[in-house]
Amino acid sequence: MSSAAACIFCKIVKGDIPSFKLFESDKILAFLDINPLSRGHALVIPKHHGAKLTEIPDDQLSEILPVVKKLVVATGAENYNVLQNNGLIAHQEVDHVHFHMIPKPNEKEGMSIEWPQQ
Ligand code: C5P
Repeated sequence: MSSAAACIFCKIVKGDIPSFKLFESDKILAFLDINPLSRGHALVIPKHHGAKLTEIPDDQLSEILPVVKKLVVATGAENYNVLQNNGLIAHQEVDHVHFHMIPKPNEKEGMSIEWPQQ
């Protein structure tokens, strides 16, 4: 069991650590990844602390994919990865559930991102 008190993403949710927020509701937060694999690499997290998918209430999980989709549309990316890692062996670094949305732009055409208005 991981601790919410020590969790870096819980600190981002509380505003104790700054982030570039893309979307926020009472249950969900989306922000830019601090170490992006591509321009527009975003993370979508439940505000409820839980390390793995199985620890997150269904009502929070069900709100996440529509937000991921909204962010994909905002990037205009036609190619993208949506990833969610659970556990050390599966390359999870931060023990708070997060979905990566990683655009894979066509390098020649580039990408014009219009993040949704809050
Ligand atoms: O799935 P995984 O746990 O490996 O990914 C964690 C992600 O959280 C990394 O992409 C990392 O750059 C990101 N991160 C962040 N802000 C932090 C700490 C980590 O965006 N303060």
